[in-house]
Amino acid sequence: MENESWVTGNITLKVGDIPLDIELTVPAQPVKPMRMLPVFQKMANSIVELSEKAILETGETISCKMGCGACCRQPVPIAEVEAYQLAELVDNLPEPRRSVIRERFKAAVDHFDSIGWFQRIVDLSKAASTNKESNVPAKLIEHVMSYFDEGIACPFLENESCSIHESRPLACREYLVTSPAENCSHPTAETISKVPLLLDPSKAMKHVGQTGLQAKWGLIPLIRALECAETVPESFGEKTGERWAAEFFEHLTNSKIPEGGIDT
Ligand code: SF4
Repeated sequence: MENESWVTGNITLKVGDIPLDIELTVPAQPVKPMRMLPVFQKMANSIVELSEKAILETGETISCKMGCGACCRQPVPIAEVEAYQLAELVDNLPEPRRSVIRERFKAAVDHFDSIGWFQRIVDLSKAASTNKESNVPAKLIEHVMSYFDEGIACPFLENESCSIHESRPLACREYLVTSPAENCSHPTAETISKVPLLLDPSKAMKHVGQTGLQAKWGLIPLIRALECAETVPESFGEKTGERWAAEFFEHLTNSKIPEGGIDT
């Protein structure tokens, strides 16, 4: 972008008992929230690393290793902003890879559409807000878990490795387990021990720039990213990088960041 200017600020987060100092360089001029994803990804990496360190200090070991894609057959929940970023990433792939990935997305969406999986999520989400159905949280968990039974891999999974590692969604960065890796292919509350996060960046990310699509769809699973970008024209507003960062940190820490800046 021509005439682009940047501003650098420091932020200190209290993550558990540990202070986390981060220097952020963000666009000074108003931008769409997709431009901020590298910043939020960097934040998520730092928080996950601290959470990982905390669990290792208890003597536990992390089971996740390069080449294990057992968890990549789940309905990865993404933020609206991430949906448009992933669609752009696919658009920018060279052929024939772009077409291959597009086909995988389409096949996955067609499959889950044909078994009514998306509609059930919408129905359960509506039921959760209207109290029209009993035991909705348990039913939602059961339905989300049923996704694994279909055995459909993420379109970006290649040889059991993530082919978009640097750009993967925040939810993927946060998924680390101490339970045996083989349990991830059919996880249950009893067989999976996820590394507890000291803060929840993917949850904060869902609030940044949201336009209501998530509420309408109940959940945006990664496989619907292209459909989202194709059927719902992107309508995010523009803000300075500093204000987008403030919005993210407000949801991350549940505290108000003053209009003046992100320095603390
Ligand atoms: S984006 Fe990468 S890490 Fe996330 S589910 Fe897909 S292949 Fe796995």
